[in-house]
Amino acid sequence: MLTQVKKAPKLALILPAYNEEEMLNHTVAKLQGIKENLIQENRIATGSFILIVDDGSKDQTYSIMQTLERENNDIFIVKLSRNFGHQPALIAGLTEAIKLADITITLDADLQDSPEIIGKMVDKYLEGNEIVYAVRSSRQTDTWFKKNSAMAFYKMADWLGIEMVPNHADFRLMSKVAVQALLAMPERNLFLRAMVPLLGYKSDKVYYERAKREAGTSKYPLKKMINFAVDGITSFSVKPIKLLFNLGLVVSSIAGIEIAYTIVEKLIGNPTAGWSSLMISIWLLGGLNLMAIGVIGTYVGKVFTEVKSRPLFRIEAETGVLATAAPEGS
Ligand code: UDP
Ligand code: MG
Repeated sequence: MLTQVKKAPKLALILPAYNEEEMLNHTVAKLQGIKENLIQENRIATGSFILIVDDGSKDQTYSIMQTLERENNDIFIVKLSRNFGHQPALIAGLTEAIKLADITITLDADLQDSPEIIGKMVDKYLEGNEIVYAVRSSRQTDTWFKKNSAMAFYKMADWLGIEMVPNHADFRLMSKVAVQALLAMPERNLFLRAMVPLLGYKSDKVYYERAKREAGTSKYPLKKMINFAVDGITSFSVKPIKLLFNLGLVVSSIAGIEIAYTIVEKLIGNPTAGWSSLMISIWLLGGLNLMAIGVIGTYVGKVFTEVKSRPLFRIEAETGVLATAAPEGS
């Protein structure tokens, strides 16, 4: 039995879209159906809406969005001036949606994030949670590689002390307070799935089976995925630097033993011409130096991007109620 402690909230469904012309109409129709049902059941308020963020698409996505917006009064659209990436597009959507909504749910425009569980997520909010994570109950639709690399990634993140909800991506419900707290975080290197747990509000999980993409192609090729994972780890943990330091200590103590050994050898008058040991040392130390520089470089790079404080996104066009709504805090 649902113990409802809050009144029906105004919900914003936020869809980041990059070259989603094949999916958009279908996705929106499906979401509208689900939303209408929830309004009928009095679980969300009338005036709940869908906000589509065009992340610099090069296909017909934006013109489809414009048509959808014209023909429906529950659809708002935002167009970013270029492709900023999935995470900045989500922040853009949250920034705009929270002007009008009490709660937000971010989900992919390709329907891989099963919209059937939206109702369950709203119920968890009504029970008193500020954040509701949608978690994949299995990874059956993933390739062997994606499944295992994801598992390794979560294990490593856990070991490095980064708090994350395993098998949760960016399909989540956030209340207005949680969104405002997230938007107050000043960082530029975005990794939302590790930033949101840092907020620390009461949260819960809802499980779902992630579907296969029905049309169009994934915008996360391997290279982008690896960059994203490296970014996530280096943005949230300084443990790699500490590990390097410890490794440096171990390596130098080995050199100490070598020196002592050489002295002893000299004293007993039996020195060997150590070509191989010399070469091994050079390569080993050279490699370690390079690794160290690489890791330090990563962090310096982060400092560089954070210090620049460039805006995360820039809205090129905005229509209807959103354009006239007062910004937060005014
Ligand atoms: N997306 C975006 N900007 C990008 C890449 C992706 O807004 O630069 C959107 C995309 O349209 C989709 C969501 O982010 O709604 C997830 O992308 P995708 O489905 O390609 O990722 P996958 O499900 O393959 O991990
Ligand atoms: Mg997808």
